Amino acid sequence: MTTRDDDVIQADSVVIGAGPVGLFQVFQLGLQEIRAHVIDSLPHVGGQCVELYPDKPIYDIPAVPVCTGRELIERLAQQIAPFDPIFHLGHEVTTVERQSDGLFSVQTNQGRRFLAKTVLIAGGVGSFQTRPLKVEGLAQHEGRNFSYRLPAPEAMAQKEVVIVGGVDAALDAAVRLRQEGAPAQRPKRIVLVYRRDVFQAEAATVTAFQRLRDAGHLEFVAGQVTGIETSTEGQLTGISVTDSNGDARVVRLDVLLALQGLIPKLGPIADWGLTLDHRQLAVNTETFSTNVPGIFAVGDVNTYPGKRKLILSGFHEATLAAFATAAHLFPDRRIQLQYTTTSTKLHQLLGLPSVSHRRDH
Ligand SMILES: Cc1cc2nc3c(=O)[nH]c(=O)nc-3n(C[C@H](O)[C@H](O)[C@H](O)COP(=O)(O)OP(=O)(O)OC[C@H]3O[C@@H](n4cnc5c(N)ncnc54)[C@H](O)[C@@H]3O)c2cc1C
Repeated sequence: MTTRDDDVIQADSVVIGAGPVGLFQVFQLGLQEIRAHVIDSLPHVGGQCVELYPDKPIYDIPAVPVCTGRELIERLAQQIAPFDPIFHLGHEVTTVERQSDGLFSVQTNQGRRFLAKTVLIAGGVGSFQTRPLKVEGLAQHEGRNFSYRLPAPEAMAQKEVVIVGGVDAALDAAVRLRQEGAPAQRPKRIVLVYRRDVFQAEAATVTAFQRLRDAGHLEFVAGQVTGIETSTEGQLTGISVTDSNGDARVVRLDVLLALQGLIPKLGPIADWGLTLDHRQLAVNTETFSTNVPGIFAVGDVNTYPGKRKLILSGFHEATLAAFATAAHLFPDRRIQLQYTTTSTKLHQLLGLPSVSHRRDH
C-alpha cells in the first residue's frame, strides 16, 4: 500500500475512511475502473473492526460463517489489492469544499491537499479519539512512563504496571500481560484501576480477568484517579486513587497505561455543508449521494429511512455508490451491470488470467 506526498494530488475519487465499508468502496470503484485515494485519521486500515473488536468473531458476513474483525479487514485488503488504492493513513480530513470549477478541495490536518472529482465519505462514527485520563500534571509524562497505548512487552518486563480502565482494552491488556511471554518478560505486578467493580467489557474478558484476580495474579483497585506522585527527578512513580467513600490511597508504579476506550467524534464531517439528520449524512438511496452532487456517503456515517448500521448494509451502499460515481465521472459512458463471474473486462481489471476457457465442474 503506497502513500504520496505531492503538493496537490489530483484524483478521480477520494474515499474518506478506511473501515470495512471504505475498503469495499475501493473494490466497487475498481470494478468501475476508478482508482481511489483513501484517507483515514488512524494509522492503520480497518475502522471499528480493528480499533474496537479485532479479535471478536463476526457471524453475519454473507458466506463467511465466522471471522474476527481483523480477519475481515485482512480479507478486504486482499480483495482490493488488484486495484492498488493509494492510502493516506494518519491524516484526518478537515475540509471538503466545492470549487467554482466543480472539483472538490479535500484538505487533511497534515497539510495534504487533493483536488477530487468525486468524494465518497465512509467516515463511520467519525474519527476515533482516545478517551483522556484527565489528572493534573499527568499529560507531561505521556510518552515517558505513561501511555495511551500498550508499549512493547520489553518495556514492561519485571515492572509494576498500572492500567486504568474498565473496557475490553484494559482488561484484555491485564490478562495478556499476565499470561503471554516467558515469566521473566512479564511485569512483576499488574494492577487494574477502575471506578467500580463492574466492567464495561465482554463477559469472556471479564471472566478471564476475574479468574486471574481470584488466583492473586492480578490486583484490582476501585476508585477514580485523582492525582499523581513523582520522584525528586520528576519521574512519575504513582497515582492517587480515591474510592467512593472519599478515601485516597497511592498506587505505586513504573508504567502507567490509560486504556479507557475511544470516543467516536463525527468531527469535521459535520462542517462540510452537507445535509445532516441526527448528526448523520442524509443520502438518496438510489445513488447514496448526499445533497451535494459528486459527494457520496456510505456505511455508518449515513442515514435514510430503514437504515441499519451493519457492515452488510454498507457493502450494498458502496456498490450502488460506485455505479453512481462512475455515472458522475463518465457521463457519456453506458454504465452496465457486469458479473465478476463472466465478464472478461472485470477479470482484466482484477488482474486475472483469462478464464473464458475454464470449465465448471
Ligand atoms: C463491538 C462491535 C461489534 C460489532 N459487530 C458487528 C457485527 O457482528 N456485524 C456487523 O455487521 N456490524 C458489527 N458492528 C458494526 C460495524 O463495525 C460497523 O457497522 C462498521 O464498522 C461500519 O463501517 P464503516 O466503514 O462505515 O465505518 P468505521 O468502521 O467506523 O470506519 C470509519 C473510518 O473513517 C475514519 N474517519 C472518520 N472521519 C474521518 C475524517 N474526517 N478523516 C479521516 N478519517 C476519518 C475513522 O478513523 C474510521 O477508521 C459492530 C460494532 C461494534 C462497536
